[in-house]
Amino acid sequence: MYGAIEAGGTKFVCAVSDKTLKIIERVSIPTTKPEETMEEVFAFFDRYPIETIGIGSFGPIDVNTNSTTYGYITSTPKLAWKDYNFVGEMKKRYQIPIAWTTDVNAAAYGELKKGAAIGKESCVYLTVGTGIGGGGVVNGQLLSGFGHPEMGHLLLKIHPEDHFAGNCPYHGNCLEGIAAGPAIEARTGKKGQLIEEKDPIWNMEAYYLAQAIVNYTLILSPEKIIFGGGVMKQKQLFPLIRAEFKAQMAEYVQTPPLEDYIVPCELGDDAGITGCLLLAQEKSS
Ligand code: ADP
Ligand code: ZN
Repeated sequence: MYGAIEAGGTKFVCAVSDKTLKIIERVSIPTTKPEETMEEVFAFFDRYPIETIGIGSFGPIDVNTNSTTYGYITSTPKLAWKDYNFVGEMKKRYQIPIAWTTDVNAAAYGELKKGAAIGKESCVYLTVGTGIGGGGVVNGQLLSGFGHPEMGHLLLKIHPEDHFAGNCPYHGNCLEGIAAGPAIEARTGKKGQLIEEKDPIWNMEAYYLAQAIVNYTLILSPEKIIFGGGVMKQKQLFPLIRAEFKAQMAEYVQTPPLEDYIVPCELGDDAGITGCLLLAQEKSS
């Protein structure tokens, strides 16, 4: 059996599956303090003979296997989890192989193998919700260097009619600071789900998201760009983003047809946990 944890800022989703990745049981545990949350995580996995575990965590996290703090959650604004030795604590409890990556890298991997990018070798997955996070796969491998990508914090050209200063605590007006759900709410006084489909805010949103994916395209040349997260439930954003992308790219790079290139996620809320199970499966072989 395989275990999987999608560790999010509001909840941890834990699952166990059989060898074919069929989920046997899954639970959702609120993210409070490590001692409390992990007690419930252990209680869940203690009941199953798991061979390997895949973890996709909120971050930033340390994924550098040469680092002394490999497996830690590092500079997170969720202070109770700052410098938490996640992989270390799991290893103390379960002496089995553990795959460790970001929540969005896991989701990218899930979408690549079982969702919107089946049959491809590369993709970028971007979630636009309370924050913006991006994960990527290139040549079938999760993107990583000294650390993991932080695609949500790109620095972008500001829209001429945008007077919002941005609310990223680190960068002010980076992508997350100007285009995540809270930035939309700060400009309009309304939550995204309550804003009308035709509202001009969505044109501004598309302008920023398109800029971000122009950059991802220029750097990574992924075969698919996949969007998830609450804000992307606004389906009218997709044609707006494709049109902005076309204008901004100015036909410099010949991408796949944009309807196939810039797409919604197919696994929805299951992308992350599916990716974690896939990573667990790979650890066992
Ligand atoms: P989280 O990022 O916390 O995991 P979500 O992906 O649901 O959760 O993101 C929450 C953010 O997305 C909030 O800012 C919320 O206002 C916004 N949001 C949720 N649903 C919608 C929607 N249908 N349309 C626009 N914005 C939405
Ligand atoms: Zn930022």
